[in-house]
Amino acid sequence: MRAIGGFLLLALTACQTVESPQPIIDMHRHAPLASSFEPDGGPGSMATELREQSVVLSIVSVTSPAQAERWSDDTSDLFVLGAMMPCPKNLAERYDCFPETDGLPDLVWLRDSLESGRIGAFHELMFNYDGTPPDSAKMAPYWALAAEYGVPVGVHSWSGPPPGRSIRANPNCCPDYDGEMGNPNQLRAVLHRHPDLKIWLQHIGSDGFEAAELWDETLSLLSDYPNVYLDLSITNSLLPIEVYENSLVRLIEAGFEDRVMLGSDNVPIALILERLEEIEIISDRQRAAILYENAAEFLDLDADTRRKHRNQ
Ligand SMILES: [Zn+2]
Repeated sequence: MRAIGGFLLLALTACQTVESPQPIIDMHRHAPLASSFEPDGGPGSMATELREQSVVLSIVSVTSPAQAERWSDDTSDLFVLGAMMPCPKNLAERYDCFPETDGLPDLVWLRDSLESGRIGAFHELMFNYDGTPPDSAKMAPYWALAAEYGVPVGVHSWSGPPPGRSIRANPNCCPDYDGEMGNPNQLRAVLHRHPDLKIWLQHIGSDGFEAAELWDETLSLLSDYPNVYLDLSITNSLLPIEVYENSLVRLIEAGFEDRVMLGSDNVPIALILERLEEIEIISDRQRAAILYENAAEFLDLDADTRRKHRNQ
């Protein structure tokens, strides 16, 4: 009996110590672009990859109604689909997104998709590539829809990528490219009109150390609008670790550690997690906030969903 008692105790302690892995929300992923020749394997392969990395939710951009249909077939609650826009006609007469409607989603289709829940975000907004400002007349109805449905909007920010990198590796890309369109101050007119919009600035820190004005504009926008969050995609993976660490330190020292979310931009999550582990000044609580809590807050996830995520 005592032996059985001892064994029971051992078994109990063993199961008590099996902790669920840290859940992760990846705010920044892409299904293949409409202009891409890459086959669209649909959500299956990405779902497998994400589950292996303890990603419990991801915002994934789609670039056509057909692709949105295909990706919304996935029933795993793993994906929130984001409509990518605006996309320029590139030099090969192709659009990276929504080719049937000149680089912008059809407004009737988009409203229906928001109503049905097929589309749950606008991501990634591509003003640099399009060479047009966020506050352009053509974007006004889209901002109004985002405000009406309360959907989060991910905006490609800062001035990158440089020529030859990312989709600018395609020589046909983006004849009107303008890095100034990614300056966060460009969003002020939009937020003035729609102060409750949930916007997340993407690629923060990606201009490296020499970006004083972009830092000033970013920090002042975060200060003026508590509903503006950010991701550090590309800074957290492909830029020198010092740039990543410096960006995190600036945000934490400025009091915005609760606005920092994880974005991978389809870079393998393992690499990003490794680098985040390397940054010693980040506490475990801050790491958990960057990986999950801040995005859960931004997306307003309910308690049941958070519980489910923790037990996955
Ligand atoms: Zn992206």
